[in-house]
Amino acid sequence: MPLKRIYHPNAADPTVKTNSWWEASATPMLHTPAPLNGSRDCDVAIIGGGFTGLNAALYLAKAGMDVVVAEAGHIGWGASGRNGGFCANTSTKKSLADIKIRYGLEQTRAVVRVQEEAIELVRDFIAEAGQTSHTPAENAELAVAHSHRHLNELRKERDELKDILGLDLRIMDKAELGDIGASSPDFHGGMILPWGFGLHPLNYLHALADAATDAGATISPRTEVQQVNESAGHHILTTSRGEIRAKKLIVATNGYTAESIPQWSKGRTLPAVSSILVTRPITSDEQAEQGWTTHHMTYDSRILLHYFRLLPDGRMMFGGRGANSGDQAEQAAFSLDLRRQFDDIFPAWRQVETDYNWSGFICLNRKKAQFLGPINDEQTAWASLAYHGSGVAMASWSGRTLAQLLLGERSILEVPKLYTEKMLPFPMSFLRPLYLKAAYVWFRRLDRK
Ligand SMILES: Cc1cc2nc3c(=O)[nH]c(=O)nc-3n(C[C@H](O)[C@H](O)[C@H](O)COP(=O)(O)OP(=O)(O)OC[C@H]3O[C@@H](n4cnc5c(N)ncnc54)[C@H](O)[C@@H]3O)c2cc1C
Repeated sequence: MPLKRIYHPNAADPTVKTNSWWEASATPMLHTPAPLNGSRDCDVAIIGGGFTGLNAALYLAKAGMDVVVAEAGHIGWGASGRNGGFCANTSTKKSLADIKIRYGLEQTRAVVRVQEEAIELVRDFIAEAGQTSHTPAENAELAVAHSHRHLNELRKERDELKDILGLDLRIMDKAELGDIGASSPDFHGGMILPWGFGLHPLNYLHALADAATDAGATISPRTEVQQVNESAGHHILTTSRGEIRAKKLIVATNGYTAESIPQWSKGRTLPAVSSILVTRPITSDEQAEQGWTTHHMTYDSRILLHYFRLLPDGRMMFGGRGANSGDQAEQAAFSLDLRRQFDDIFPAWRQVETDYNWSGFICLNRKKAQFLGPINDEQTAWASLAYHGSGVAMASWSGRTLAQLLLGERSILEVPKLYTEKMLPFPMSFLRPLYLKAAYVWFRRLDRK
């Protein structure tokens, strides 16, 4: 019996194959983790084997804790194995100006500091793991404006960054975008943000799983947690294959969170579909014809934004939002729509074939920012989730931070309030898919030029 989720059961069924470029090009794990059969006691049980869960597992295992990660699919089944690989900042839909109004200047700066720390954490891990899947050319993000109105919004953002962080960033006009190899009839200007780098997300995740296994953690793929109870100071996880009894629990399920696993989750998350296509390698002549040669991680100014980057071998990875149900049939229709959007932005590449396309769940919530904190009164169960589509860096940082909190190495007061503030359930939470559908109609209007 599938667990209750708010989308089509297809979308969270790990037996459904993805046509993902990352899956096709990943370096296999050194270890082959096996599902967990029977009963197992441990210090910490972690539900979810993505960046959050595996970073927590790695840190805890290195500290000598007995850790079990229960992952419903294979390692990489969730968003961590199928994202755009932008290791960049933000895990919130709030602007810095909004954060400053709500939490003050110091807290706003702390948010940015943490995000920078998160990017460096991933960069250091990847360097240590000997991965070279990104190139310096993929450093930094390029934000592009799809209308003159949105260029003014970008100017506002530049002013906020100056005001809050003292950063001096420059707005480029259309011609200057062309000079850096970022030409498209759709874009009227842009700004380079100095953070982040592009990576191969599944290679990073595989390396994490190997490192956590080497440190002594038990990583259990194809082990779905179907029920969570508390008894005699323990968390009892009933899985598809047995039972895990743990002194402490970490919930790291983000957009794949099932209703009521654990009970706290009910009605609190709003998963949303994000879709990606990857083309065949685009030759340097074809790149020159379009005028797009930059490897910057790029996103546009739409609310239903596009995010894209040229991969090291010349393929273009292009992502966007707008699909609603997670159903396979809808995914097929939406990928055609996404391709039409790609053609509008890169008209010279209309003949360039799409080799791969897939989708996955990001996670939104009511407070419009990730949540990290305890979820029971005894503070033996913790969660970190709702990265709002930007969790490569922040999920990694949050997994490690959860581990440090559980070990008593860090105080929750050191975590920015934006993240630790409660994550309340949505009102009439059964209407969540409808909220999103209605919002998308409205967003499409706002996104018009
Ligand atoms: C298409 C797409 C593109 C994206 N692009 C970017 C990007 O470029 N940059 C960026 O920063 N972020 C991006 N994101 C978001 C980013 O991938 C996520 O924020 C991040 O991976 C979340 O990591 P996580 O470990 O918290 O969750 P996930 O990686 O989603 O892992 C959660 C895991 O929990 C498991 N699970 C759920 N319920 C159970 C259960 N009951 N029992 C056992 N296991 C369970 C799931 O199988 C899943 O594997 C993108 C996401 C998507 C879908």
